[in-house]
Amino acid sequence: MDLTAGTSLESDMVRTQTSEATLAAARARWGDARRIVVKIGSALLTDRETGRLKSDWLNSFMDDVAELAKAGKQIVLVSSGSIALGRHALKLPKGVLALEQSQAAAAVGQISLAHSYQETAAARGLTAAQILLTLGDTEERRRYLNARNTIEVLLSLKAIPVVNENDSVATAEIRYGDNDRLSARVASMVSADCLVLLSDIDGLYTAPPSEDANAKHIPIVNEITAEIEAMAGDAGTELSKGGMKTKIEAGKIALSGGTHMVITTGKILNPLRAISEGGRVTWFVAKSDPVAARKRWISGQLVPNGQVFLDAGAEKALFSGKSLLPAGVTRVEGVFDRGDAVTLRSATGSELGRGLIAYSADDARRIIGKRSTEIAAILGYEGRDTLIHRDDMALTRSQR
Ligand code: GLU
Repeated sequence: MDLTAGTSLESDMVRTQTSEATLAAARARWGDARRIVVKIGSALLTDRETGRLKSDWLNSFMDDVAELAKAGKQIVLVSSGSIALGRHALKLPKGVLALEQSQAAAAVGQISLAHSYQETAAARGLTAAQILLTLGDTEERRRYLNARNTIEVLLSLKAIPVVNENDSVATAEIRYGDNDRLSARVASMVSADCLVLLSDIDGLYTAPPSEDANAKHIPIVNEITAEIEAMAGDAGTELSKGGMKTKIEAGKIALSGGTHMVITTGKILNPLRAISEGGRVTWFVAKSDPVAARKRWISGQLVPNGQVFLDAGAEKALFSGKSLLPAGVTRVEGVFDRGDAVTLRSATGSELGRGLIAYSADDARRIIGKRSTEIAAILGYEGRDTLIHRDDMALTRSQR
């Protein structure tokens, strides 16, 4: 009996030591994160009774965003709140709204939501940019590349994208309905290092703390097991759609895209600063980084619809980390659309890797061998300079 007690004490100590070390590693991850997606729920941003925007909270939050931006981090916000703001403006009844009513509420509320972000960002010398997405924009490859590209450009111009679901046009079958999963898809779409879900609770507990006084906070989740899923229970207490359950679903999406995820409370002022200062959070740790995860997806999951043959110069450029330009391609085979996967082949036909191509097969055939500056004149529209961007490419040999 003593022995049992001793053993369990010892293993508890081991566990504590391990979690201290892994916690320190997690904090370092936050410090190192270059691109961060933050999800803000309706309950944090709007007053339940009056439906007004909580401007003190938003101001403190944007102070944090400005601080992180100043430290060189790229921030993407995924914000709910359109329905909560709009339903009050339209004086809709309390309780669950019909889909058409939520859509009408979103149409009204999104204007003021975007305006609030624009104003609070501008007050700190930042530029906010609105992006409204539907499920298809994140799931269908061609549109996915468009959304990814727009967000990339905005970030390179130092703007702060503010994303929400395009609730006014998304019908029941084609909508996310919760911004937890939407934010995780956005995070993996832009290869973010870290996704923060600001919640009404400071992380995941072994049981809902409101129901179980013995519930313990979990600082780190290394893998989303059935046990972890069971801890999440059903929908939570938030005004928004998602409870802990959709947060765990978001975790699965984020982790498989190589993005770490943090769940922490947003019910305080300066919630992001609190993370930097070591506040209580639950870390969901991804096993690989976003670039590796994306390359694995390109090389392993997608069936190529065509092939492009490269000249020796282009092959060399690719392996030194460059993108593929139309000028370096000698031949194109197959039927494919923009955003489809194709196999890259050397002049002798050996496979060099795979990539997502930025042009359809017909258009690609018209521009191969030509300079990128000639693309617009040949096709009659302004396309991408690269045929396959290096981020959209997984090479079979490692790059030199
Ligand atoms: N997109 C919805 C809104 O802005 C919220 C979805 C959610 O609550 O997660 O109101």
